[in-house]
Amino acid sequence: MKTYQIPVGKGVEIPVTENFFDIVNPSNHEVVSRIPKMTAADVDGAVVAASAALDKTDWACNGVFRAKVMLQWADRLEANIEPIARQLTLENGKLIGEASYEVTSQVGVIRYNAGLARTVSGRAHSLGSNSFGVVAREPMGVVAVISPWNWPVTLMIRDMAPALAAGNAMLIKPASQTAGVSLDVLRLLIEETDLPPGIVNAIAGSGSDAGQAIVVHPGIDMIAFTGDGSTGRNIMRDASQTLKKLSLELGGKSPMVVCDDADLDKAIPTLVSAIFTTTSGQICTAPSRLLVEQGIEAELVERLKKAVSGIRIGDGLDRNSQMGPMTTRDQYEKVLSFIEMGRREGRLVAGGEPLQADHLAKGNFVSPAIFTDVPDDSALNRDEIFGPVLVIKTFEGDEEAIALANDTEFGLASAVFTENVHRSWCIARGIKAGTVWVNTYNRFYPEVEVGGYKQSGIGRMAGIDGLMEFTQTKFINFDSIPQQG
Ligand code: NAD
Repeated sequence: MKTYQIPVGKGVEIPVTENFFDIVNPSNHEVVSRIPKMTAADVDGAVVAASAALDKTDWACNGVFRAKVMLQWADRLEANIEPIARQLTLENGKLIGEASYEVTSQVGVIRYNAGLARTVSGRAHSLGSNSFGVVAREPMGVVAVISPWNWPVTLMIRDMAPALAAGNAMLIKPASQTAGVSLDVLRLLIEETDLPPGIVNAIAGSGSDAGQAIVVHPGIDMIAFTGDGSTGRNIMRDASQTLKKLSLELGGKSPMVVCDDADLDKAIPTLVSAIFTTTSGQICTAPSRLLVEQGIEAELVERLKKAVSGIRIGDGLDRNSQMGPMTTRDQYEKVLSFIEMGRREGRLVAGGEPLQADHLAKGNFVSPAIFTDVPDDSALNRDEIFGPVLVIKTFEGDEEAIALANDTEFGLASAVFTENVHRSWCIARGIKAGTVWVNTYNRFYPEVEVGGYKQSGIGRMAGIDGLMEFTQTKFINFDSIPQQG
C-alpha cells in the first residue's frame, strides 16, 4: 500500500491533512493507495496560488519556456513508464499491456503539445488609413481539468498538455478511484521539472466536494471536464453562475456497422477488442451497438461467440489475462443489472456471468455479454452501460444502417466495416458522430481533433483546435493618425 502526499513546487509548504481516502485494487479488493482528501478550502488555496503564479511569472507569454518544461515532463514520464503503468493497473484493473500503452502514448501527446507551445499566435490587420489592429491569442487564465477513472493518465494529459502549451495555470482534479496514479504523473511535472510553483495544482478529493468547489469558484476561468453526461449537465448548470467556459467530453453508445462484404477476419477481433477486452468495455468510444447486414448475421454471431468464449479473464498484472475487472464495485453492479435487464427483454447469446472461480471471486469480474432481439426502446439499447455488453441488430442497405446508427442521443464515435470504398464514404458521411473509423477502431492521434456530436459533448480535444480551446482572443486597435505638431 502506498501513502501519497500532494505534490508541490519548490519552496511551497506541503498541505497537512488528517483525512485520507483509500483506493482498492478491483481484482482483489485490497487497499493499494491512501490519498490525502482535499476539500473546498484547498481548492480556494490552489486558485490563489495559480493566479499569483500567472501574475509573478512570464509563463503565459513565454512559449519557449513552456515548451522546455513540457519536454522535461515528457522525459520524466518516459523514464517512469513501468512503475506508473503498474500503479495504473493496481488502481484501475486494466491489463498491464494497456496501461503501458496508455502512459507511453501520453509521452508523445506532451511532446506534440510542447511543439505547439511555440506556435500560439494571432493576426495583424490593416483596417484603413488610420486604424491598425492586432488579434492576440491569450490563455484563458486559470483552467481546471476534471477527469474520469477509465483512462486516467490519457484523459488528464489530453486536456492538460494543450492547456499548458497555451499558457494557462491549472487545477487538476483526477477521479478519486485512480487518484494515486494521477498524482504520480503530476508529481513528475510539479516536482521534477522547472515548472514555476503554483502553475499546476493537484486536487485530490471527491466530485461532490472538491469537484463542486471548482465548478462554482469565481477565480476559475474554464473547466475541461471528461466524464458522465449527467455530471456534465450538472457542471454546465452550476458553472453558469460564474459564466465559465466549458469543454465537455461525455458518454457514448457508439455503433459499429458491418456490411455484408466486410472482412470478418478483421472486423471480429477489432470488435472484441473495442467492446470487451480494452478496459473491459469501460471506454467512452466502445462500440456497444453492433449493426450487422442481414445476410451475414448468423455467421457473425457464431464467430463472435467463439471468439469471446476463449477470452482469459483475470488480474491485469497477470500477463496471461486478456480482460480485467470492472474498475469499481458500483460499475460491476451496474453492468450486472443491465445484463439482468437484457435477460428479461432480449436474448442473451453469450456470457454475462459474474465470475466466481477462486482466483476471481474477490474481484469485479464479469464475462462479456452478447445480446440479440433487444427492443429498440430498451435501456440496453439506449443507455451507456460502460462495460462488456454488446447489443446486435440487423439492417438492410446503407440507408437503414445510417438511420439505426443515428438512432441514439449520443454521437461520440462509430465505425463502418466494408471493402467497398463508396459504401464506406456514404455511411461515414451519414453518421452523426465526432469520429468514424473505417475498417478499424479506437485509433487516436495527438494531431487529430476528437469530440462529441449531440449529447456526447461540447468542444474538441487534441490537434490545433484542441489547443485553441484553451485560448481566447483579444482585439487591440491602434489609431494610426499621426499626432499634430
Ligand atoms: P463521472 O462523471 O462520475 O466523474 C468524472 C469526474 O467528475 C471525476 O473526477 C469526479 O470526481 C468528478 N465529479 C463528479 N461529480 C462532480 C461534480 N458535481 N462536480 C465536479 N466534478 C464532479 O464519470 P466517471 O464515472 O469517472 O467516468 C465515466 C464516464 O466518463 C462515462 O460516461 C464515459 O463515457 C465518460 N468518458 C468520456 C470520454 C470522452 O472522451 N468523451 C472519455 C472517457 C470517459
